[in-house]
Amino acid sequence: MTSLNHCIKFQLNIEDPNLFFFDYHEALWQGKQTKVYAAELIQPSCPACHSQALKHNDHYLTRIRYLTSNASTPVLLEIHKQRVICQACGKLSMAQTELVNKSCCISNSSKQKILAALTEDRSMSSIAWPNNVSTNTVQRVLQNFDTPFLSSADKLPEHLAFDEFRGVGRKLHFICLDGTSHQIIQILRYRYKKDILKYFNRFTLAARKRVKTVSLDLNAYYQAIVRQMFPNAQIIVDRFHLIQMLNRAFNQLRVRVMKRFKPASYSYRLLKYFWKLYLMPYAKLEKQKPHYNWHLKDQLTQEQIVLDGLDQNPTLKHSYQLVQNFSAALKQQDAHAMKGLINTKTVIGEQLRGILQTFKHNQTAVLNAGKYKYSNGCLEGINRKIKQIERTAYGYSNFDNLLNRIKLEGKHSVLKEKSSNQLV
Ligand SMILES: [Zn+2]
Repeated sequence: MTSLNHCIKFQLNIEDPNLFFFDYHEALWQGKQTKVYAAELIQPSCPACHSQALKHNDHYLTRIRYLTSNASTPVLLEIHKQRVICQACGKLSMAQTELVNKSCCISNSSKQKILAALTEDRSMSSIAWPNNVSTNTVQRVLQNFDTPFLSSADKLPEHLAFDEFRGVGRKLHFICLDGTSHQIIQILRYRYKKDILKYFNRFTLAARKRVKTVSLDLNAYYQAIVRQMFPNAQIIVDRFHLIQMLNRAFNQLRVRVMKRFKPASYSYRLLKYFWKLYLMPYAKLEKQKPHYNWHLKDQLTQEQIVLDGLDQNPTLKHSYQLVQNFSAALKQQDAHAMKGLINTKTVIGEQLRGILQTFKHNQTAVLNAGKYKYSNGCLEGINRKIKQIERTAYGYSNFDNLLNRIKLEGKHSVLKEKSSNQLV
């Protein structure tokens, strides 16, 4: 009897001293051939007065789904919980075990395994099957995992990054990151001003004063939020965003110039098929080895194509030089050169002029992109990861589930080092 108990406990990795296994058999349960282990759970003392003078009052039978190494034969624990009446204080009580929560039929170790599996890039149904639970159970485990990104209201990182991503129902959600550690600070369901203000108002003024920089795109109300919430913070316009704006304006100009030529002409082809070359840094263009070009029916280097293309129109040429110089200045963190370029008097396309006007309005924030090393580059990776999470699940309809999954998958790297038990 004792050896059987020890053997089963060893095999199932159970250490509860109050649990005594006395039988095992196979049975058909919910249409599946199942391994059933029967055990008695002892109530050693009264939970109220710790008296050991107890009068037994039958058992209460619970069936618990347990971990299994072979998913095709589920394991079921039949636990006979002792019910007792205390002879000292007269209280009724029933034995409890840490294997399972009160009035629950899925063992805590199964839940931990599910939670650990949820940190990986897997769909819920692929987690449900090997653990012998339904997808709804996996979803419930996910819903119960609720830890905030930031627990303390008087601590904020010194460098923040604001952005948004498309999530539930193709709506945009607000995301805020720690610019140094790249940890997610918060994800909000809505990206409206009042919601963001409400969130940051939870933090103490001292915490908010500690924020030194916030990098963001040129969204008008984000800047107002930063000014209102973080009195000591410098606003940095994300440098990728700046380049993107310039490139877009340059492309519009290129298309406009291109359309002045006949589609069959050499100039048209120069401007149409090599749009990527115009956006590359000039230094990276191939200047030595000419290649036969099918569109132009000529042996040309990349540099020759770009220079030929720019020769078609002086405005295009000036605009190209401006975009190139601005990118270079940004890369070299030369705020002085950037300032000169923003206030340039050369003839450039009207789209580009409009962009420069916008830069001028936000000059300090734009020049900060050249002064500080912080940008929204770290958000790129996070946004890609979130997209992958959504893709694996074929989209989420519940924002909280998506949020919990993002939190859990964020813990994946931590989990690799620690045991999964520390999650719960
Ligand atoms: Zn008692």
